[in-house]
Amino acid sequence: MEDKYLEAVSVCPVCSSGNHTKFIATPALMHHTEDTFSFSCCGQCNAAFLNPRVTTDHLKTYYPDYYLPYRGAAAWGKYRGFVDRSQQKMDKKRLKTCKKFGSKNTGPIKLLDVGCGNPTFLQTLSQNTDWQLTGIDFTDEGWKNSGNLSFKLITGDVQAMELAEKFDLVTMWHYLEHDYNPNKTLASLRKHLKTGGKVIIEVPDYLSLTAKWQQAHWEGWHTPRHTLLYTKSAFERLAASNGYKLLKHYRYGTLDAFTLWWMGTMEKKKANWAGSMETEFFPLVWKKVYTAPLFMLEKWLPLGIQTVVLEAV
Ligand SMILES: [Zn+2]
Repeated sequence: MEDKYLEAVSVCPVCSSGNHTKFIATPALMHHTEDTFSFSCCGQCNAAFLNPRVTTDHLKTYYPDYYLPYRGAAAWGKYRGFVDRSQQKMDKKRLKTCKKFGSKNTGPIKLLDVGCGNPTFLQTLSQNTDWQLTGIDFTDEGWKNSGNLSFKLITGDVQAMELAEKFDLVTMWHYLEHDYNPNKTLASLRKHLKTGGKVIIEVPDYLSLTAKWQQAHWEGWHTPRHTLLYTKSAFERLAASNGYKLLKHYRYGTLDAFTLWWMGTMEKKKANWAGSMETEFFPLVWKKVYTAPLFMLEKWLPLGIQTVVLEAV
């Protein structure tokens, strides 16, 4: 890749330490090019960050029309029903997590989902709660063909948003690992949270067993779209610098660790991510069956996903 599309990162984007070393080189994942990238590891907070990273203008090259998350369940052809159901199952798990940390005050909870994309999670909430729901994303691509929805969707930048309301709960499902400046995001969100309000963040866990086993093919790197992989210590610093305390840290989440691991096995065999996924369906089911005894343990072993809950203080 040409240098003009890359920018060096001189200090850790979490804690600003200049003490970091090269950690791992990985190819561009879920992509057809031969580009390779490196992640550095911060000596102070242990965050791993892409260095150099792709300029934000050039990053759209890595989101072509065939990008699997854009194609969603449709990429699975006649098996799309299974994929739709697994999305619904994940959204229900997210609802359960939100209910656990939603405010117990009177009145409906006000929730903001950052990076809502195709807002199936907000739809699940609207069908199951009386909460006041808002979603924000950089683009309306995820919902422009969705017809009338019973909640508010905003196109814009969370770091620059100026909303009149304050929220009880903010959710970021696999958003913050894409963020070039998480301190700015969390500072902006703090202004939009009530004191005692919570932020629920789910991201990949690069200190997990699947990352150790799969190394450069581990899909948690999602190179070069993921620019930052966090540790508990990195979250503690982000919280302390921006008006929060770290309330909970779990080394599992709502995205199945199996799914992340399966994507890594696809990377290793250089799968064609642009094609139909139909032929991958039965191999996936077989892998799911024979790894079930391992992935049943995901609440007890760190298998690739982590969740943190920050409380606004
Ligand atoms: Zn750091």
